[in-house]
Amino acid sequence: MISVVVPVYNEERSVALLYDELHSSLQQLGQPWEAIFADDGSDDGTFAALTRLHAAQDNVVVVRLRRNFGKAAALAAGFDQAKGETVVTIDGDLQDDPAEIPRLLAKLDEGFDLVSGWKSHRRDPWTRRQMSKLANTVTGWVSGIRVHDMNCGFKAYRAEVVHGLRLYGELHRYIPVLAYHRGYRIAEIPVNHRPREHGRSRYGPERYLRGFLDLLTVSFIGRYRSRPLHLFGGLGLVLGLAGTVILGYLTVLKILGHSIGGRPLLLLGVLLVVVGLQFFSLGLISEMITSQHEERGAERERAERLVDEILS
Ligand code: UDP
Ligand code: MG
Repeated sequence: MISVVVPVYNEERSVALLYDELHSSLQQLGQPWEAIFADDGSDDGTFAALTRLHAAQDNVVVVRLRRNFGKAAALAAGFDQAKGETVVTIDGDLQDDPAEIPRLLAKLDEGFDLVSGWKSHRRDPWTRRQMSKLANTVTGWVSGIRVHDMNCGFKAYRAEVVHGLRLYGELHRYIPVLAYHRGYRIAEIPVNHRPREHGRSRYGPERYLRGFLDLLTVSFIGRYRSRPLHLFGGLGLVLGLAGTVILGYLTVLKILGHSIGGRPLLLLGVLLVVVGLQFFSLGLISEMITSQHEERGAERERAERLVDEILS
């Protein structure tokens, strides 16, 4: 079964049209499918439109969030309802073309766990396209994952990937990074993109600043979540060592009878040692938090998701 998850926020004019397009694209595959609409606290007629759709079709599930929590929350709520072995996410604004779903699925069948769409001929304003390009380049540097279009809402997954994700805040933007750190195989294919016909984009330019902070979160958690001391402790050791060398040098000078009280170097040495100790203890504290977490079994559950295959 294929579960199509659609986050919608004030898309009353699009949902019925989207369902029809999904229907014509998916029925030719000859597999059962369901459409899960996650209504992210819309305040227009979206929920009414979804209620009508639900009454008319037997493969429509509607999840209504209590208020507007953001796309990540909407996706997470939708994923919770998904029963299929394959999950597709698609934006609810008709910009993604449902006719591309079979291609995404075919790529998934080649042995990938996540196939991301890439809006190669993007139909958005020029500034938006340039900013997005820049954002994707920076993301590539920081995260080490080179995809053209990280934040494309149009993706296909093996269900396991989606059920292991913990999406909150605006982390939906970095799903490929989160998945990559869990060892999933990721691919990208160009997809058709269409201009927005109804309403406007729900995001303004502030998305880039927030996005950058989220990128740090995602990259940090992905790399160091189970070994924070390697980051903080490493940094602390390097700084502390530099400080110790400086202070040692000054001590020798002092013993030789020079006056060191007025040397800026003294200040630097003391600063480095103090900051180094700070970092080091921060690392130890993080390490304690991580191990607590592990004892509570949250990590054990996670470990199951790290296994690809078992031959027994
Ligand atoms: N969306 C949502 N909650 C929000 C903002 C957006 O569920 O708080 C949905 C929106 O209805 C659309 C998708 O996320 O289906 C992508 O949003 P949008 O088209 O505004 O973003 P853009 O295409 O400009 O990246
Ligand atoms: Mg859009």
